[in-house]
Amino acid sequence: MEYIDLFDTGKVSRICYGTLSLSKLQNDNTVANNVKLLNYAYQKGVNFLDTAELYDNYSLLREFLKDKKREDIFISSKSYAYDKKTADYSINKALKEMNTEYIDIFMLHELDNGNNFLGHYKAVERFLEYKQKGIIKHFGISTHRIKAVNDCIKYKEIEILFPILNIKGIGIQDGTVDEMIKNIKLAKNNNKFILSMKPYGGGHLINDTKKAFNYVKNIKEVDSIAVGMRTKEEIDANLLYLEGKKIPSEITEKLNTQQRKLLVSYWCKGCGKCVERCTQNALSIKDNKCHVDMNKCVLCSYCADVCDEFCIKII
Ligand code: SF4
Ligand code: SF4
Repeated sequence: MEYIDLFDTGKVSRICYGTLSLSKLQNDNTVANNVKLLNYAYQKGVNFLDTAELYDNYSLLREFLKDKKREDIFISSKSYAYDKKTADYSINKALKEMNTEYIDIFMLHELDNGNNFLGHYKAVERFLEYKQKGIIKHFGISTHRIKAVNDCIKYKEIEILFPILNIKGIGIQDGTVDEMIKNIKLAKNNNKFILSMKPYGGGHLINDTKKAFNYVKNIKEVDSIAVGMRTKEEIDANLLYLEGKKIPSEITEKLNTQQRKLLVSYWCKGCGKCVERCTQNALSIKDNKCHVDMNKCVLCSYCADVCDEFCIKII
């Protein structure tokens, strides 16, 4: 496993375990089985894990942490806090539910731009107070927007930048992947730690995972890549890609036969664009939300292209 300096706090693995894949939003496995997966990745060198208040899986992290030395693990989390009270709520919840005395990285979740950041500034001030006390080690933002990546350069408070990045630019809401990379480079030149997310574009790039992973891996400004993993084989494959090694055929076979489904996230606005795009008639709008008929869906991903909200994922 390759490690990279998280400023002067310690060395984090170049693969960060994205635990959205182990939350109720995407997974109905037991906590015990999910802890086994985290332990499997940890034994292989993954010491960096990302979660969020939204994922509602702090109890999973608590189970994982309980037999480890806290200083050996790096946890990143995030919330939509917008004032001091909501910032206090987010930090206290994270500390209590993960049973930890500190959080290595805490971020504002899904920021759009600098104005949006300033709109949350009461929360930012509170997070910075927690940082002074050592309860947060580093502060940052996550985003699906190039504008936020560019605007973060102005703010020294933002140490960690967590942008979406993949070979096709899936999920980037305001431009192309080339524009995103240009701005990530600027941010890196301004001393931000870059943790990229969604190298497989929410599951839509699984037909050529090697190419998709290597694309992000080869962008030298990316310090660590957060990737969601739901099986041992997915963990093995990502670690082998990172090391530039070949994936054994038995792992490839298991990955190819892994059951997958289309997931529509709860924030779907029911606009119906995806329904029009699907030639299989697999989608419909009910109660203002998109629903999938998995008997008809062929997992072609075409519908994801027209969803401006990045709601549609293959898991
Ligand atoms: S395009 Fe996106 S937001 Fe619109 S109905 Fe489909 S999933 Fe929902
Ligand atoms: S993945 Fe393809 S078949 Fe499935 S719902 Fe989307 S467009 Fe239709």
